[in-house]
Amino acid sequence: MIVCKFGGTSVQDAEAMTRLAQIISARCKQQPIIVASAMGKTTNQLLEVAQTAAKGKRQEALDLLAKIKERHLREAQKLGIAVTEDWVYETINTYFKEMRDLVKGLAALCELTPRIMDAIASYGERLSTAILTQVLENNGMPAQLMDARQCIITDDNFTRAGVLFDLTDRAIVECLRPVIKAGKIPVFQGFIGRTGSGATTTIGRGGSDYTAAIIGAALEADDIQIWTDVDGIMTTDPRMVKEARRIRVISFDEAAELAYFGAKVLHPATIIPAVRKRIPVHVLNSYRPEQEGTLITEEAPPCENPVKAIAFKSGITVVNVASTRMLMAYGFLKKIFEIFDHYKVPVDVVSTSEVSVSLTVDDASALWDIITELKKIGEVNVEGSKSIICCVGDNLKNIPGVLSIVFGALQDLQIQMISQGASAINITFVIDDDRLPEAVRGLHDAIFARVDPHIFV
Ligand code: ADP
Ligand code: ASP
Ligand code: MG
Repeated sequence: MIVCKFGGTSVQDAEAMTRLAQIISARCKQQPIIVASAMGKTTNQLLEVAQTAAKGKRQEALDLLAKIKERHLREAQKLGIAVTEDWVYETINTYFKEMRDLVKGLAALCELTPRIMDAIASYGERLSTAILTQVLENNGMPAQLMDARQCIITDDNFTRAGVLFDLTDRAIVECLRPVIKAGKIPVFQGFIGRTGSGATTTIGRGGSDYTAAIIGAALEADDIQIWTDVDGIMTTDPRMVKEARRIRVISFDEAAELAYFGAKVLHPATIIPAVRKRIPVHVLNSYRPEQEGTLITEEAPPCENPVKAIAFKSGITVVNVASTRMLMAYGFLKKIFEIFDHYKVPVDVVSTSEVSVSLTVDDASALWDIITELKKIGEVNVEGSKSIICCVGDNLKNIPGVLSIVFGALQDLQIQMISQGASAINITFVIDDDRLPEAVRGLHDAIFARVDPHIFV
């Protein structure tokens, strides 16, 4: 059994869906279970509809919604679906009617809660999977549309809900048993779940990868395949460096660091369920299915290059807290972290000196409350428009002189907050946002001037 997850670009239009049907058809013997994202950009558009409505701009929101409907109908009709009043046509109409009602409610109340955001966002995946199921049927495959909300059971932390694994694992096995017995190909929505009391939730942006891993782990699948729009995990984001090379094999630990520090190609949480059950993960290109992609596995083979990939995240805020009271005192760090914890704001990188602490945060929305609290314990200064760069490689701990290669490539840049995690497989630092492209390109040139042909293509 294999789990195949198709991201937004892999289901973005009629052509992509046709390509996808061919990929699945070639894997029928391996008992594929399908997980799909919303059609590319739909999630953002649906959230924009909700935000527009909550500002009281009812007609503008309804017009945006009508455009999203038009696109879904148009792509479905190109595939010969929803032409007559078939079930897909009915489903699309029903979903958009429900969304219009939500928009009217939002416009009247002028208030948008995370719960309603999840309710609206969930329609993206529900629409794409309805169309996809019929595409598979039309290509001669017996497909069964599933409701991921019956299986992925979460807490009520809307927009970033935590998965309740005991309930979820059991529900997945129970829901799938009859479908698999009937020889059908199940089609699940990625990204969405529900609380114990039945409210729709989402598990964080980019979460369809995570859904695939959760289902794969529950079923002890042989392989989890993440089908996307690039050849696999690359030495850096190919949108930033077009010479980026494909990595053939990478360890779970390395992939987790990369994902956490911004390599969007894989949702960071994806690794957790896969590691738990030691299931290999493949990252593959749905536009070039003949490519072998990247294998993520427990242990990667030895590599001559010290760094395997460079990840980065821009739009980061650095918070510096200084206090002479920290000198020789204990409990200072604890107090700082308690404040971030209270506002549920994750901290990515931390560096300390004897009298100050610097922390980076990705989400600055609760920052002013946090700063008010921090000011009670020290002097606070905030720097916006920063980027984190993270060089990852199992081999970093073995190869001497790595730091001189990394920092040698960045000689003209001001670097802050250099840190190396305890796992010693990453080197992380912070620079100004506007220097990010030159830093990543310079680093990439220096590190991958020569590559180990066993690991990179
Ligand atoms: P999907 O919709 O299939 O989930 P995403 O857009 O979430 O796809 O992720 C794929 C994108 O991740 C690629 O188009 C690429 O620009 C970006 N990316 C960032 N870092 C990397 C990397 N190291 N290797 C490959 N892709 C990366
Ligand atoms: N559609 C969701 C998003 O855009 C989930 C995903 O694509 O993985 O975040
Ligand atoms: Mg993604």
